[in-house]
Amino acid sequence: MSSSLNRRLFLTGTVGTVATVTLAACGGGAEDEPAVAEVEAADFPEGSTMARLSEAGSIKIGTKFDQPLFGQAGPDGDPVGFDVEIGKIIAGALGIDPKNIEWSETVSANREPFIENGQVDIVVATYSITDTRKEVVDFAGPYYVAGQALMVLADNEDITGEDSLAGKTVASVEGSTPAQYILDNHPDATLQTFDTYSNCVTALTNGQVDVVTTDNVILAGFVESDPENLKLVNEGETFTEEPYGIGLAKGDDDFRAFLNDTLEAAYEDGSWAEAWEGTAGTVLPTPEPPAVDRY
Ligand code: GLU
Repeated sequence: MSSSLNRRLFLTGTVGTVATVTLAACGGGAEDEPAVAEVEAADFPEGSTMARLSEAGSIKIGTKFDQPLFGQAGPDGDPVGFDVEIGKIIAGALGIDPKNIEWSETVSANREPFIENGQVDIVVATYSITDTRKEVVDFAGPYYVAGQALMVLADNEDITGEDSLAGKTVASVEGSTPAQYILDNHPDATLQTFDTYSNCVTALTNGQVDVVTTDNVILAGFVESDPENLKLVNEGETFTEEPYGIGLAKGDDDFRAFLNDTLEAAYEDGSWAEAWEGTAGTVLPTPEPPAVDRY
């Protein structure tokens, strides 16, 4: 059953006047009536990123294209997943039709450069908020908190947790926090990096590496798509906190506040939960939305 969230904001008159948000929550059955809410449009200040994007009627969003549940290219080429729905919620709050989102594939290592050079307006891509990244970009959120975990072949018995990584070849992605964690904490393991997690999974199924590490929810998506061959170590036990943020240009404080306001509104009006339940929530339990950090 496909579950989609269509959130459209129709601006009446000029930017900054009253708008109507239509929340169409399609659970799949004809009996499901779309919820319709009327809200005040944000009063976008002249010259702000919000005014620019809203006037353009389009937004460039970077996300993953190979990660089940969060951002994975669909049959028409556009990505689907929880991060994608978060992107649509942001677009909707700017009065941008989801059809007018320009999606770009961002891999872990190019997220900061894509933001810094303006190739994307925001990144929503299982993107952990870290102090190091905050030196070059800013973050709204978090809108979800994951944690690093391990995935092995279904018949593997000797890797039972991070304490059993010594002498093992561990795959992760270049420029990711899980790769850095292995370098910092497991010098007795051999880290092998790839550009994407799907390439890590291929290396695991080929026998090129012993284990793949990244966020539990990313690994859960891969296990879900190939349960015969893959499994989470210790039921997906986590050993770090990975707060997912929306990356944006450093110093754009008004836009960051707007993104945080939009996330909080989505917590309140049910659209965050709807986005989760239609995507990652088909496999994972529904969490409480985390408090946004207006640093
Ligand atoms: N959340 C971690 C990070 O931002 C791992 C997932 C990813 O690489 O996208 O580095």
